[in-house]
Amino acid sequence: MKELENKILTEGKVIDNSILKVDSFFNYCIDISMLRSVGKFIASHFKNVDKVLTIEASGIAFAVAVAFELGNVPVIFAKKSKTAVTSTDENYIAMVHSFTHGIDNNIYVSKRFLNENDNVLIVDDFLANGAASIGLVQICQQAKANVVGVGIGIEKEFQGGRKKLQDLGCKIVSAARITAFENNKPIFSTEKY
Ligand code: 5GP
Repeated sequence: MKELENKILTEGKVIDNSILKVDSFFNYCIDISMLRSVGKFIASHFKNVDKVLTIEASGIAFAVAVAFELGNVPVIFAKKSKTAVTSTDENYIAMVHSFTHGIDNNIYVSKRFLNENDNVLIVDDFLANGAASIGLVQICQQAKANVVGVGIGIEKEFQGGRKKLQDLGCKIVSAARITAFENNKPIFSTEKY
């Protein structure tokens, strides 16, 4: 998506050829026009979606934007911590290594909200090593739900997440697909998504 690529080029900051900081329009302060364009772009590549599944917190805005374009399907988000009202046997649980925080977290989705009749689109703001999205695929596998695909805002392809998800049979659509950082500048894929 050219609009997002241009925004990354003008406002994004790359740290150590690894992390892309996009907090002025994507993660912290959210540009709603951009968010809606990303939602439209991702939604246009998928059909027959019953539910959108994401992970708190930064995935939620993107999941909502996509779900809106898919005809207001429900959004479910995995929680990163267990609360007094979440018991282990009431939840699907997967272990996810956080790329940005460097720690392992369990993620939890209530069994009430995902089941075997659901066609699920997984959405997240970023795809790096793939841990977050793979954790969500594992949650769907536990629920015996069908994963329709994975929709991503910004993908850093060189960190391997796409390959791992493809090996699991997932279709992946990314609004911006970065193949490398060179001298802290992003190089975008020539593929369409
Ligand atoms: P993965 O699990 O695919 O390794 O990383 C995806 C998660 O890490 C996303 O949910 C996102 O919040 C975070 N993340 C990974 N790389 C970046 C990055 O370059 N910039 C930002 N802002 N977040 C990232």
